[in-house]
Amino acid sequence: MTAAGTRVAVVTGAGRGIGAAIARRLASDGLAVMVSDIDATTAAEVAQEITDKGGQAASTVTDVADRDACQALVAATREVFGSIDVMVANAGIAQVKKLLEVSPEDLQRMLSINVGGVLWCLQAAAEAMIEQGHGGKIINAASIAGHQGFDHLGHYSASKFAVRALTQASAKELAPHQITVNAYCPGIVGTTMWDEIDEGLGGYLGTGKGEALAQYSQLIALGRVQTPEDVASFVSYLASRDADYMTGQAVMIDGGIVMV
Ligand code: NAD
Repeated sequence: MTAAGTRVAVVTGAGRGIGAAIARRLASDGLAVMVSDIDATTAAEVAQEITDKGGQAASTVTDVADRDACQALVAATREVFGSIDVMVANAGIAQVKKLLEVSPEDLQRMLSINVGGVLWCLQAAAEAMIEQGHGGKIINAASIAGHQGFDHLGHYSASKFAVRALTQASAKELAPHQITVNAYCPGIVGTTMWDEIDEGLGGYLGTGKGEALAQYSQLIALGRVQTPEDVASFVSYLASRDADYMTGQAVMIDGGIVMV
């Protein structure tokens, strides 16, 4: 249980990358954080790091593609910390493939994690928030690839367009309960996901390690690759009471890629 007034957040895919940065940031903002990932070891490490620094955190293993597991995640969070106030549905995967080569299995996996994962976390969190009766904040991971279709990442782009649709639709459905739903849309963030994209693009473009990333980075107006902390600081705002009047938005935080 947390002290009265302490807000509680769940962050999925928080064992590394953007999710880990969000978990650390929300903990330093004073929230108690349930660090969730499909990888038990990394989730536990991030939670331990937070508690070592005096923050409040626990960890769980959750495959967000599994609806029952997402329900269990929210139930465990309420059991450990007493409530849930913020759900950050961050977990996601990418896969580099030409659309003509995408298999039914590829599509199924992409949609079940990137779209199903957001929907199941959103459902579980909203049910709990409605029962608690004091509103809440749901924050989803979309992408600049949810605003424009990227070649070689077509089915990934489709999944992120879908996250924007879920964000808008659920914002309308949940507004009567004072639950806001927004999405963050990062650009090119230096994480394991981008290393994998760089490698995948290399297979198609004939580029070596780091070259595809370097090419794409030229599109960034601000001139540097984004850090996970750049994303986390915006999610910190979305999770805060300062964002109480904002809902249904999918905001690009991309260093100006779309302007270039
Ligand atoms: P990452 O691959 O570095 O980390 C993703 C984390 O999610 C990992 O810890 C992984 O174990 C976990 N995960 C994977 N499948 C899961 C599942 N089924 N259930 C629970 N956890 C699972 O990725 P990242 O770069 O930190 O990306 C985080 C989010 O931000 C993703 O939704 C991604 O699509 C989005 N995003 C990333 C970028 C980028 O450039 N890295 C850009 C735009 C959007």
